[in-house]
Amino acid sequence: MSKSSSSIRARRILLATRVGFVTLLVAVGACLIWADPLIGTVAIAGSAAALYLIVRWQHGRVAYRCRRCSHEFRITKTIEFVSPHTPDSKLLRCPSCSEVNWCAALTVDDVSRPVGR
Ligand SMILES: [Zn+2]
Repeated sequence: MSKSSSSIRARRILLATRVGFVTLLVAVGACLIWADPLIGTVAIAGSAAALYLIVRWQHGRVAYRCRRCSHEFRITKTIEFVSPHTPDSKLLRCPSCSEVNWCAALTVDDVSRPVGR
């Protein structure tokens, strides 16, 4: 598979994951609110608060390395929240080479120099 078709495939995965995530969130929220407005609202607010705390905790501890050009960088909390991931990688656009690929996750301690966005 060439790099360009790999990048197109990665972009499609990124788009499909984002659309799927938002659709799932809206569907679950609508079902919960329809079944019991109070429980639905509390469940959605509690889930949102828990996700925010998890993303905030992870944001300060993780950096990423592009698999194409080895550029090391950090991402915003918003991207941290919405980007698809595996246990050791995340689908991101590299700020250096602009390639969308599964960037390797690093702890900030593994990075040899300060990294920017
Ligand atoms: Zn890169």
